[in-house]
Amino acid sequence: MSTTAFIWGDQLASYRFTAQHPLNPRRLQLTVELLGRMGLIGDEQAPIVAPRYAEADELEAVHDVAYLEAVRAASADPEPRAGYATFGLGSEDVPLVPGMDEAARLVCGATLTAAEWVMTGRATRAFSIAGGLHHARRAEAAGFCIYNDLAIAIRWLQRHYGSRVMYIDIDAHHGDGVQWLCYDDPGVLTVSFHESGAFLFPGTGFIDELGDGDGYGYSVNVPLDAHTEDGSFLESFNGLVPELAAHFRPDVILLQAGCDAHVLDPLTHLRCTTGLYEHVTRLACELADRYCGGRLIATGGGGYAVYTVVPRAWALVWGALRGLRLDDELPLDWCRSLRLESGRDVPATLRDPTEAFPPAPRRAEIAANNRRTVTAVRQQVLPLLSGWGLAF
Ligand SMILES: [Zn+2]
Repeated sequence: MSTTAFIWGDQLASYRFTAQHPLNPRRLQLTVELLGRMGLIGDEQAPIVAPRYAEADELEAVHDVAYLEAVRAASADPEPRAGYATFGLGSEDVPLVPGMDEAARLVCGATLTAAEWVMTGRATRAFSIAGGLHHARRAEAAGFCIYNDLAIAIRWLQRHYGSRVMYIDIDAHHGDGVQWLCYDDPGVLTVSFHESGAFLFPGTGFIDELGDGDGYGYSVNVPLDAHTEDGSFLESFNGLVPELAAHFRPDVILLQAGCDAHVLDPLTHLRCTTGLYEHVTRLACELADRYCGGRLIATGGGGYAVYTVVPRAWALVWGALRGLRLDDELPLDWCRSLRLESGRDVPATLRDPTEAFPPAPRRAEIAANNRRTVTAVRQQVLPLLSGWGLAF
């Protein structure tokens, strides 16, 4: 039996801004509680591994020192100061809060812990549910993200293992921070599926963002139409990702599994269900088995339907990482306590039943648009594959 590491410690819930802020760490605690209740974490095959803190040199491999100093200062004394705005600090998305540096460093350390477990072979896969802060830039906080744990893990993998990293991002928002940080690096293939930047933050992730210099061709974007459903999302994913992996031949796959593409998510306009996360994770694991000796590191990411979506979506990610087909029924007492806490009705099954949501009114048109997008991406990217072939 292979081992899958679940990276968690209660301190990870300290990554929080204000009571009203949409990024609510309760979603992480609920996921941990659900997995515990289902008996899916905390044994030899699925150890709960405590995160460490990221070290200064690990952060500096991605972020500017002046930025790190500003976060540290704001963390110690969260009073507004001139200059913070240029670093994206003190905005509505990233308010100043005491301890923000420590909390963000722990999130980065959690994803590094996941990478360590996978690369040393202690686990085949690992899940850093608190990670996935894909919007953070070299010298700028953005979109609820202070430090970019994903890019930090990528640099760590390169430095310690010389790994070729395939980064797959299925968050509803474009994985812009990781893309720009790796934009000229042919050792990192970034692939982002997201609601088109025409409709959604951060307004990037179009198909012509292909990379720079030596990294040209190693940045792949699939901007999906608003209201895209599971079928078209999966068709787009399958129409591209296996072929990209076959040509890039990664040593390890990093999967950002933000679950805000769900139809119930309050911040986005995609119409996917929890089943999507099981399918995509399973496909990514198959590719990891084929090319990477199984090595796959998954993180969380967005997900703002705290009670109705996140615990179920990430339980399915976890099941797929472990190669398990989980029963649909959720523990009744868990549903009851969730109903009491949230004051609302909550789904009783892991996977949303097919009839749970009405079909998107323009389903065929949306699927056709996405098909055209994938065809255009293929036409742009695949000719570059021969160049990749020459390099190895
Ligand atoms: Zn998102």
